Amino acid sequence: MLPYKPPIENVEIKYTQLFINNEFVPSKDGSTFPVEDPAAGQNICNVSEAKEADIDAAVAAARRAFQPESPWRKLAPKQRGRLLNKLADLMERDHHYLSSLEALDGGKLYKSVYYGDVLSSIDVIRYFAGWADKDHGQTIPMSSEYFAYTRHEPVGVCGAIIPWNFPLVMITWKLGPCLATGNVFVLKPAELTPLSALYFASLVKEAGFPPGVVNVVPGYGKTAGDPLARHMDVDKVAFTGSTAVGRLVQKAAADSNLKKVTLELGGKSPNIVFADTDLDYAVEMAHAAIFSHNGQICCAGSRTFVQEEIYDEFVKRSLKRATQGKIGSPMDFKTDHGPQISKIQKDKILGLIQSGRDEGCTVLCGGGAAEGMDGHYIQPTILTDLNDDMRVSQEEIFGPVQQIFKFKDVSEAIKRANNTKYGLAASVFTKDVDKALTIANAVQAGTVWVNCYYVMGPHIPFGGYKQSGIGREQGEYVLKEYTEVKTVVVKITPPAL
Ligand code: NAD
Repeated sequence: MLPYKPPIENVEIKYTQLFINNEFVPSKDGSTFPVEDPAAGQNICNVSEAKEADIDAAVAAARRAFQPESPWRKLAPKQRGRLLNKLADLMERDHHYLSSLEALDGGKLYKSVYYGDVLSSIDVIRYFAGWADKDHGQTIPMSSEYFAYTRHEPVGVCGAIIPWNFPLVMITWKLGPCLATGNVFVLKPAELTPLSALYFASLVKEAGFPPGVVNVVPGYGKTAGDPLARHMDVDKVAFTGSTAVGRLVQKAAADSNLKKVTLELGGKSPNIVFADTDLDYAVEMAHAAIFSHNGQICCAGSRTFVQEEIYDEFVKRSLKRATQGKIGSPMDFKTDHGPQISKIQKDKILGLIQSGRDEGCTVLCGGGAAEGMDGHYIQPTILTDLNDDMRVSQEEIFGPVQQIFKFKDVSEAIKRANNTKYGLAASVFTKDVDKALTIANAVQAGTVWVNCYYVMGPHIPFGGYKQSGIGREQGEYVLKEYTEVKTVVVKITPPAL
């Protein structure tokens, strides 16, 4: 295992300007926006703010890089793979710096960024480097006179709009397949966490990608995200974020040039625990499923369904587990619970907990801000005595709030698990393979974990049913989201013999 290195103190912020055509530049009107440390609730720096004119410049640079005779288009596929591997090498070199920066900007537990986010982002880039020369078409026999073949061609200029909860991971999930298949990239990071994206951009340049292939334009949703989503010269937009904004992005795409859209959206994932499971293990997994990153994970197991025979004991042990963690600085190795990303998110979560109280559920622990902390901290919270129609049971809380429901049997579990507009993930804990597979087949979710949670990898497809999204990321499946299939039909006229 990688030896642990504590976070860099007062980590230097090296890049705060837009990255267009391989240069760091100020925004055209000179405006900037503040970036905050969520653990302290204080500003770290100001970053150039992209608006429509800057998005235009980034898209124009990307378009030039995509011209048929451009250096990027003339690269052999295996050379694209080499560049991606070089980028992964540089990320590995700067692993310590990237971890420190990401933890500071996102209020993420440094240890989980150091051992999780950065390493998995490197894996993603390497995985897609391998695909660069392996995604090709088919030859299709038709008759003695004709045959057809297909070409997998890049879509073109791809916009990416990402959220704040996993900045580096989300960049690589989109950039990896985009560049492996020969496209060009315009990234709008979340306004709350632009710093790792800008540093990453410097590595793109250092790795030797030609100008314009990757552009990074931080800014706000309405003034930078929307112009990218509705740009007439963008061919595809890949969005990760809330379902509400996903809907706007799809509408912007439809209202403009009908660009391709993939959406990775919110969730309200059920975690179904049967009485025949290993109880301590299931309690621990259910705890991790919701409290990791303070509940700010799209596929968090936010609805824990527990079979009635073990319900009381499960709740008792979950309460003990939720109240024993340390709330503290994300930079401290001993911390279990860090801050939420912003005051707005914190207030939204506390408002939802209050709505649960008002509708009659029990707040078993937590339920308020963590005392004595400067940043946006909330106590780990457990809600019981819930019904499925409450606001807290239906809305994505995106915070450290475990909801524990009681159920009787398999058919009730399936019905209630599916009683949501979302369909991102689900899990089941049981020793009975028939129950496990019945649940896995019946639950409407893009990923189902059996006796585990959050087991993911670059080769494993991820995405949502229902209002959790459109399309898939990761694995071989994502390649088709970044390629057009061209069919060429050829007539064969045999020469006279
Ligand atoms: P958000 O939807 O508020 O913002 C996401 C991004 O969209 C940001 O970059 C934002 O600036 C931009 N944006 C906002 N308004 C826009 C507009 N009108 N047009 C274009 N872009 C706009 O989401 P968030 O608060 O950053 O992230 C949390 C949400 O993301 C949660 O719902 C979570 O479930 C979801 N999420 C999903 C996945 C997944 O893979 N399914 C992964 C991570 C997060």
